Amino acid sequence: MPSLAEVAGRLCRQPPPKGISPEGFRFFQELWAHYPSCSEQWTRVIPAAVWDRASPLRSKPGEPLLGIEDIRFDALPILRLWKRLVGLFEPLEEAGMDPVVASRSFFASRLDDPDPKVLIGGCLLRPFLYRAAQKASSLIDTDGWTGGTCPVCGGAAYHGLIQSDTRQRILACGKCHFMWSFPRIRCPFCDNADQELLGFYLDEEEPRVRIDFCRACRRLLPVTIQEEGTGFPLLVYDHLVANNLQRSIERRGS
Ligand SMILES: [Zn+2]
Ligand SMILES: [Zn+2]
Repeated sequence: MPSLAEVAGRLCRQPPPKGISPEGFRFFQELWAHYPSCSEQWTRVIPAAVWDRASPLRSKPGEPLLGIEDIRFDALPILRLWKRLVGLFEPLEEAGMDPVVASRSFFASRLDDPDPKVLIGGCLLRPFLYRAAQKASSLIDTDGWTGGTCPVCGGAAYHGLIQSDTRQRILACGKCHFMWSFPRIRCPFCDNADQELLGFYLDEEEPRVRIDFCRACRRLLPVTIQEEGTGFPLLVYDHLVANNLQRSIERRGS
């Protein structure tokens, strides 16, 4: 996983993706720009992440490393980030949003829950979960993990990646951004492996991203196709790039 500083640095050099307002994208860039320094004390939020090489992490299907009881939703680093968030977008405080309730709601939420509490909670909790996932990624053995949910936090996949060298499909968690490999011909949401019911849509103007679909559960997954000889893709940006195509597929209802 790239560091938060690398993601923030690369994000601030990107143009607004099609279909995203310049103001909305600027908020997103500024939010991620805060993450590297805000998350320095991430172990105060997730003290359970005291993993080290002496005790290798084994992942068993259905048993992610972190559960809701492992997160200190009232930890000071979250409250500090909340202050910065209110500085970026003042109406948040007026709306009576509670950062502890919001970040807890995010951790307990399902993928793409449109509740404003969940969206704000995601802005608050994401950098701390990201740091935990980054630490776990060098220690965890995911060979026994066959599920479509994240071995670190149990979250659902929000974006995929087809690697240029191995052609493997990698899934990225929508909560902690941990990445794990998953078969290309299988749906991570319902486990359907019937090829007739799986496929993808492409936007000719944005050939780098595609939308994988499953006709069994009607779920969509944006996927970046890594180009030969390019560095690690910026998935958080590609996710926004794919948004336009995803919305048009949803509008068509197919
Ligand atoms: Zn996760
Ligand atoms: Zn499915």
